[in-house]
Amino acid sequence: MIYMRGQRADYDHWASLGNRGWGWDDVLPVFKRSEDYQHGADEFHGTGGELRVEERRVNWEILDAWREAAAECGIPKIDEFNRGDNFGNAYFQMNQRSGRRWSATRAFLRPVLHRPNLTVMTNTEIASITFEQSDGTLRATGVRMAEEGGQTPFPGEMGSDPIISARREVVLAAGSIGSPSILQRSGIGPGDALIAAGVPVRRELPGVGENLHDHLQIRTVYGVSNTVTLNRRARTLFGKVAMALEYFLYHTGPMTMPPSQLGAFAKSDPERQTPNMEWHVQPLSLDKFGDPLHRYDAITPSVCNLKPTSRGSIRIRSPHAADAPVIALNYLSTDSDCDVAVSGLRKTREIMAASALARFAPQELKPGPEIDTEDALLDAARNLGTTIFHPVGTCKMGSDSGAVVDDRLRVHGIDALRVVDASVMPEITSGNTNAPTVMIAEKGAEFILESRRGER
Ligand SMILES: Cc1cc2nc3c(=O)[nH]c(=O)nc-3n(C[C@H](O)[C@H](O)[C@H](O)COP(=O)(O)OP(=O)(O)OC[C@H]3O[C@@H](n4cnc5c(N)ncnc54)[C@H](O)[C@@H]3O)c2cc1C
Repeated sequence: MIYMRGQRADYDHWASLGNRGWGWDDVLPVFKRSEDYQHGADEFHGTGGELRVEERRVNWEILDAWREAAAECGIPKIDEFNRGDNFGNAYFQMNQRSGRRWSATRAFLRPVLHRPNLTVMTNTEIASITFEQSDGTLRATGVRMAEEGGQTPFPGEMGSDPIISARREVVLAAGSIGSPSILQRSGIGPGDALIAAGVPVRRELPGVGENLHDHLQIRTVYGVSNTVTLNRRARTLFGKVAMALEYFLYHTGPMTMPPSQLGAFAKSDPERQTPNMEWHVQPLSLDKFGDPLHRYDAITPSVCNLKPTSRGSIRIRSPHAADAPVIALNYLSTDSDCDVAVSGLRKTREIMAASALARFAPQELKPGPEIDTEDALLDAARNLGTTIFHPVGTCKMGSDSGAVVDDRLRVHGIDALRVVDASVMPEITSGNTNAPTVMIAEKGAEFILESRRGER
């Protein structure tokens, strides 16, 4: 739900790797084209696009104070993040319309569901890609549905044929875990991994499933007094009913919010060219995702390294779609990532100790004030760290030996096959990854139409 484009330097870096048309000046108009910005069009924002972008509809005294505290610590208050340089602190902009989540399905898919050239099949898992080979050319011809793990819907319409044929091209958009898994099951990937999984190698492409990276969020927890957090509002039946009424009557309040509403971006050391740490500040706390909120008032200022250098991989275990792949993130496996994690924890402490927050008497609960050496803080980062759900990079765009797709998102060495999702990012953007993925999809759509017209 957080709408965050990343930084100019992210895209200029992609372009500097040889990816034509992916620099900030190229992608900004694409972001604007799909946007419907609450405050109207300007140099950085667009209106009339499918993706609604609005401001938050809930306020928390403690988050307002956190903004002041961050400003005291050198992270200034700014109006918004989506202008190419994120440095500062602000409330996140959201993909919402009138307080309701404005998902990619709602924005892009539902309005065109009636089109005769579109069939949506849910609960349908794709196992692999089908190919034809002639004169040394490998061409994607369709996809094969999984027999296990996914059911074939609409048997009357689809018959019993598990193959869906493509007249022009196959476009994979199964995400950073799904797309490399489908490629590997189809025999496209690192030869050793395919052989180990029992899949015959059709085309050796060593980068498929490699270069996996993500933002690891380190979730500190601070108890607070003299204010109200979501922990308290959600604790009683009366509180829950009040939140529901507020939502249904006014489209405001906590039920309109994602857990994170306030963000901040800063550098872990001044030598860095761009901000490389992001805070997501939540007016709530819990032990882990899925657990109930704590019974006391507390907040979670979580911090993540936006430019991790640790890399992992996705590797299938077998040719069967029902067997989940091995997902190895290898978080905090480089010295520089460890340094940034410790810096993030120290900076969080500095902000929480700023005078703007003093009236709420913050008490550090996680990791706890007694944890103070470099080693202990790093251990804490490992214990408190968890994904923020931004895996990217496993079918990376480029022209080096690890690249999987070219800068028009075509899989190297194979005709009529593209990947259009977050997996094509050569390096993760400095922020949340949904808006960049929508931008990638916009560009992918352009490429598909251009190919159809025979332009490139
Ligand atoms: C809980 C959560 C919260 C998030 N919040 C935010 C946020 O607030 N802001 C933000 O910017 N980003 C957020 N993200 C990240 C964002 O959702 C992703 O960056 C984005 O969805 C990536 O898009 P994608 O198309 O690459 O992959 P996905 O959105 O994962 O889409 C891939 C699709 O392919 C399907 N699929 C996979 N394998 C197969 C197969 N074999 N056969 C058929 N279908 C298959 C999957 O079911 C899925 O529907 C969040 C992610 C999560 C999980």
